[in-house]
Amino acid sequence: MVSELCDVCKKRPASIYQPHTGRKLCKECFIDDVKKRVVAEIKRWRMVEPGDEILLGLSGGKDSYVLLDILSEVYKPSRMFAVSIIEGIPGYNREEDVKRMKVFAKDRGVDVIVTSIREYVGHSLYEIVMRALRRKVRVSPCTYCGILRRRLLNFYARTYGANKVATAHNLDDEAQTAVVNILRGDYVGLLRLHPLAPPASKKLVKRIKPLRKVYEWETATYVYFKGYNFQETECMFINMMPTLRARVRDALYRLEWKKPGSLLRLLETLDVLLEDEAKNLATNALKECEVCGEPTSPKRSVCKLCELLERAGIVEAVYQVPNKYVPRLYRT
Ligand SMILES: [Zn+2]
Ligand SMILES: [Zn+2]
Repeated sequence: MVSELCDVCKKRPASIYQPHTGRKLCKECFIDDVKKRVVAEIKRWRMVEPGDEILLGLSGGKDSYVLLDILSEVYKPSRMFAVSIIEGIPGYNREEDVKRMKVFAKDRGVDVIVTSIREYVGHSLYEIVMRALRRKVRVSPCTYCGILRRRLLNFYARTYGANKVATAHNLDDEAQTAVVNILRGDYVGLLRLHPLAPPASKKLVKRIKPLRKVYEWETATYVYFKGYNFQETECMFINMMPTLRARVRDALYRLEWKKPGSLLRLLETLDVLLEDEAKNLATNALKECEVCGEPTSPKRSVCKLCELLERAGIVEAVYQVPNKYVPRLYRT
């Protein structure tokens, strides 16, 4: 039996079917396709500009391998450094993941700062969640985790002078966030998601998401084809107090399965629809938290993180990290 040929090169045997384009692709053409789409998205929104210093937020999961692989190949690794955050969740063997990521990044010329939630707050995520539970705080662990990771990346970017923070959010993540914002009626949140939206405060570093048009199955396939060997561990908190996002994730997954390309078209439509309004958003829309001094909504005097930690009984948060590392920026 002759295997079917790739629809692009028409030379090599096809290895994968790409539902949203209806094409069969060989390994090489698939990897090339993902890379080209990432670069096109970066250029379309001018995510990377000459002189940028970029902090990469790398979790050590598959998406972060794809982000690092493509960015370090296309742009100067000397203008980048990375931060990996250990959340501190038992059984979720992040230290191993992070160690592997660090070696992988070093091979590509990118230094990784490894830090933890404990270093910043004084408690691991597990401890924070347990304290919150004891006080019957009905907040999902994912909420604590998400806020803390965002805060830490921004803190490191500011501390070490990066003017962009790149994260490895994929198309599935981005479509979920958009729909969650719509379902919550958070129009400003939806606008802030647009790649041209400016940060809402001078203390917030501009975030870029180069993988936002690449499906999650594609990042998984990319690392598999590239032979990057790793296993994704599942977080123990994944099913505890499902957030609205978790429900949206299931619904969108089923929709995409029935109608391939749906998520891509959703995001594409929002990109076009919201562009003008998003780029004119205010850059001084926030005020400073009375406790930590970080940006917070004009409606609050204390930021969401300080409030959530206080509700968990943590009032002595550290909010700084040891000055143990200076990234090797400006290398030639
Ligand atoms: Zn091919
Ligand atoms: Zn605060």
